Amino acid sequence: MKSSPSTATHPLALLAVDGLLSDEERAIRDTVRAAADRELRPHVAGWFEKGEIPARELARTLGELGVLGMHLEGYGCAGTSAVAYGLACMELEAVDSGLRSLVSVQGSLAMYAIWKYGSEEQKQRWLPGMAAGEYIGCFGLTEPDAGSDPGAMRTNAKRDGSDWILNGTKMWITNGSVADVAVVWARTEEGVRGFLVPAGTPGFSAPEITMKLSLRASVTAELVLEDVRLPADAMLPEARGLSGPLGCLNEARFGIVFGALGAARDCLETAISYAKDRTVFARPLASYQLTQQKLADMSVELGKGMLLALHLGRLKDAGELTPEQISVGKLNNVREAIAIARECRTILGANGITLEYPVLRHANNLESVLTYEGTSEVHSLVIGKALTGEQAFR
Ligand SMILES: Cc1cc2nc3c(=O)[nH]c(=O)nc-3n(C[C@H](O)[C@H](O)[C@H](O)COP(=O)(O)OP(=O)(O)OC[C@H]3O[C@@H](n4cnc5c(N)ncnc54)[C@H](O)[C@@H]3O)c2cc1C
Repeated sequence: MKSSPSTATHPLALLAVDGLLSDEERAIRDTVRAAADRELRPHVAGWFEKGEIPARELARTLGELGVLGMHLEGYGCAGTSAVAYGLACMELEAVDSGLRSLVSVQGSLAMYAIWKYGSEEQKQRWLPGMAAGEYIGCFGLTEPDAGSDPGAMRTNAKRDGSDWILNGTKMWITNGSVADVAVVWARTEEGVRGFLVPAGTPGFSAPEITMKLSLRASVTAELVLEDVRLPADAMLPEARGLSGPLGCLNEARFGIVFGALGAARDCLETAISYAKDRTVFARPLASYQLTQQKLADMSVELGKGMLLALHLGRLKDAGELTPEQISVGKLNNVREAIAIARECRTILGANGITLEYPVLRHANNLESVLTYEGTSEVHSLVIGKALTGEQAFR
């Protein structure tokens, strides 16, 4: 039996997902896809292999594309819908989760923290440059001994006259060593507060974390704060307690609900194309029932994930999205994306383990995506609490 490319349907076309998008959403998605394919995709395997990205240049490219803080209003941000932002995340992650991470951390964590909780002066100082990609931001919440439980953080800020003195260590911070400004969450006498720490502040350093096997096309660093003196106006005035950082995390998690599907889609497209070209036992790999079972199951999950992401996006645009719903989306879509990436790897056989093809790179990246922005276990516990009223975190 011969494969017939002319009659092949794209996995997402099976459910006619495009028809659920507005013209504007499709246009934004197509623009981001074209730019990502042109500017990022040709280089990404090399960046991943080296474990290095040209972060400054990339930030400016992404700023010109208009995706940095694109869902925020004012201060040079595009003010798009949540769905459009999600679709942009999907296209960026179809290239690499590390590149989507750069955008998520910049827009949904660092910029959002300033936009939502900052003073007017802080917003004017940082947001336009961050939207343009001239400044890079990072978001320091996790610590060596406080990941899933940020309430256990040790980083502290103490008053000294009107100044603040910060001490502590943050760990696994995306963009950390290339950031111009770090949003650092610290314990104070009045609970957890957020601080803006400009790069170069005495006592502040950000050594890069190397030897990663995942998100290699992304900068990850430690943030070390040793008696870092900051003026009173470095504090974000409107963020009080852990609800501040958790509010930012919800924004970034939302982007991941869409983003992870981009990685999955890229794997599935690669696997379908490979299976059609690869001959085994004198027939195309795509013509065997076992292969078609794999492709069908993966396409069903990709389509379901997409419908879920769009539903959550519409709820977000209506101002109705709850944290539990974001947990449903993050848990499901990352879990299914990683399963798809691994299954696609089997279809590519030995070729699947190389950087010639994107599937194992995506699978490895998705290990980080499964863990950051709330692990799958944490999201299960959030859903469990919503279902039972019982919290099982501790
Ligand atoms: C590449 C990368 C980039 C990152 N970028 C950032 C960033 O920019 N900013 C930032 O602040 N953080 C960042 N993180 C950190 C990330 O958010 C944390 O790794 C994550 O919150 C999990 O924390 P942990 O690694 O300390 O794991 P732990 O909290 O130690 O968890 C270990 C395991 O225990 C499970 N577990 C935890 N609590 C429970 C429980 N109650 N019941 C059952 N199981 C439980 C977890 O699900 C996990 O499987 C990044 C991480 C990675 C890998």
